[in-house]
Amino acid sequence: MRVFKFGGASVKDAEAIKNVSNILQNYKGQALAVVISAMGKTTNALEKVVHAYFNKTGEAQANLELVKKAHYTVMKELFSENEEVFAAVNDTFVEIEWILEDEPEESFDYIYDQIVSIGEFLSTKIVSAYLNKVGLPCTWLDCRDVIRTDNTYREAKIDWSFTERRMQEVMPSLLEKGFVLTQGFIGGTSENFTTTLGREGSDYTAAIVSYCMNAEGMSVWKNVPGILTADPRLFKNWVKIDRLTYLEAIEMTYYGAKVIHPKTIKPLQNKSIPMNVKSFLEPDSAGTIISSQVVNYYPPVIVVAKDQLLLQISTRDFSFVAEENLSHFFSLFAKYRNKVNMMQNTAISFSVCLDNIPERIAPLLKELEDEFNVVIDKDLELITVRHYQKEILNTLRKGKMVLLEEKIRNTAQLVVKDLPKMQRLD
Ligand code: ASP
Ligand code: MG
Repeated sequence: MRVFKFGGASVKDAEAIKNVSNILQNYKGQALAVVISAMGKTTNALEKVVHAYFNKTGEAQANLELVKKAHYTVMKELFSENEEVFAAVNDTFVEIEWILEDEPEESFDYIYDQIVSIGEFLSTKIVSAYLNKVGLPCTWLDCRDVIRTDNTYREAKIDWSFTERRMQEVMPSLLEKGFVLTQGFIGGTSENFTTTLGREGSDYTAAIVSYCMNAEGMSVWKNVPGILTADPRLFKNWVKIDRLTYLEAIEMTYYGAKVIHPKTIKPLQNKSIPMNVKSFLEPDSAGTIISSQVVNYYPPVIVVAKDQLLLQISTRDFSFVAEENLSHFFSLFAKYRNKVNMMQNTAISFSVCLDNIPERIAPLLKELEDEFNVVIDKDLELITVRHYQKEILNTLRKGKMVLLEEKIRNTAQLVVKDLPKMQRLD
């Protein structure tokens, strides 16, 4: 069997959903599991509902109405009014409205997962109804029945042995009837609560399904021609990469290449399942293939991660930043789930570049500042260049102040800040 993943942009409106069904027509009769994200920017819109509800701003229901409206608009273009899918979608909204009627009592992360997860339930209900309508038999699968996680809400960890066993039990007979369509980004706990796997986690879901089912291959369908040497919104003269090894792909995505979720690579590598990143706009072109096959040469690849923070932590009494202090810092990073992107130390100071996620940074700073001096730089970019050349690094430095820099074998990294754009007046 094979696994496909279609992201939010590929199902963002009625036209897009029709395009997905056209692509899938080419695979009719094949054993195929299809993982789908929430439509367009639905997850962001649902995050607004969660914030409004949790902070009691009184706007939660109005925010939810926007999500409803977007979905009903798409449905009206795809279905006639009396079709069952309207009732199914309506039920999903009603569940959330029940939550919104009561005061928020549970933790933010728990509430977040219960509300935000409906994006994927809505999109999969709509797309599966449409595929069945146009003659592509498919079964809608509630992924919470097969993907078991712990209860780390918003970043749930997979229970691999349960998930693998359950998936092998459930999937084969469903695949005989047609495609199996399920939600990306979501799992369920042993107590039947909904969890999410981290933003942009649908790719990871597709990798979980691939792993558990020993898939022959996995394809991620995107609005770009494949994996590119740089983000086309930030750079000119990028090129598409035809082949990447798992190693190259995991390094690129870890440092913020948004094209696929970094957690996707490990399950595929562990079972040598090749992955194809392809364009849903040009379904016949080859895209990028990620596998264990050795690649002899790579062009320089630039990855830019925005909204980075640099902390310089120093001891007050001139004691060394040595093993004990370092292990203390790292226990705090682990405790507050801060992602360390780059680091360096001197005799009495430690510099670390972290993703600026306010709810994870605030408690970290509070503990650090009790004991150490902390200097904070915000609004930074972390630029990672694989297979760098000197000229490229020089170009990237232009107009920037470099706060931290490191080069090891194939990788160069710069933490930079924009220089103020001054201009002479005379
Ligand atoms: N819908 C989720 C998000 O936007 C998951 C995904 O798109 O992969 O983060
Ligand atoms: Mg997405």
